[in-house]
Amino acid sequence: MLLKDKVCIVTGAAGEKGIGLRTARLFYEYGASIVISDINEQACEATRQEFDAERSLVVTGNVANRDDCFELARAAMEKFGRIDVLVNNAGVTQPVKFEEIKPEDYDRILDVNLRGMMYMSQAVVPHMKQGGAGSIINTSSVSAQRGGGIFGGPHYSAAKAGMLGLGKAMARELGASGIRVNSVTPGLITTEITAGKLDDQMKAKIIEGIPLARLGAPEDIANAFLFLASDLSSYITGATLDVNGGMHIH
Ligand code: NAD
Repeated sequence: MLLKDKVCIVTGAAGEKGIGLRTARLFYEYGASIVISDINEQACEATRQEFDAERSLVVTGNVANRDDCFELARAAMEKFGRIDVLVNNAGVTQPVKFEEIKPEDYDRILDVNLRGMMYMSQAVVPHMKQGGAGSIINTSSVSAQRGGGIFGGPHYSAAKAGMLGLGKAMARELGASGIRVNSVTPGLITTEITAGKLDDQMKAKIIEGIPLARLGAPEDIANAFLFLASDLSSYITGATLDVNGGMHIH
């Protein structure tokens, strides 16, 4: 029971096929009380039915809205009295070329991925400090490291690379308070974000470049999150964990 008695928030966690819900399910299996947040109200409603109400809380909210983030932390504290883990997972992408990026696209991609990480982290840090410990995990992307993945445009790479820098700076500052901050850089994972955008020929071509010879599954990322959330990683902070099947070895 790696997460027994821990209270874990996962953002962007109501999508049936997404990394976030897979993570919430895994954390719950490992004993955590889970706080699920997502902007999709309908998906939140469906998710609410799945878990025992005593050990779960589902809140609709937008990570790019500071008030929503602080309200989420407040609700988690009210129900469980502590916050041990935050997984900044909510994210959006857009497959456009550099010259096609409009100001509103740039704002949306940066706001959800990067600003959302900052606001949610600001909302939980005071409570983690109060508890003397915490683990914050940020969902970046291989596209931050190689300058583009397969679907994200340049603004997505910039947002995900920004998350790595912000995470490292937070790790330096918050370590003395017992708070660890790490990032995961997933490769290509089969979820809604990529659904319907890959035909068999494209898949085969991508797989040629992956030493482990398959696309990733949400549980591949959830398992890495579990390690970083638990005390197994108690001396790891400021790290970037590549979970990409070897797609990008550097
Ligand atoms: P997904 O679309 O299934 O999940 C994203 C979730 O975030 C959705 O449930 C969506 O409703 C929610 N969301 C969107 N905007 C939000 C907002 N403003 N506030 C709160 N919630 C919001 O996609 P996924 O593949 O599970 O993505 C999870 C994370 O992994 C994202 O940050 C994504 O960028 C990252 N990632 C995914 C891949 C991949 O190949 N799937 C690769 C690298 C990184």
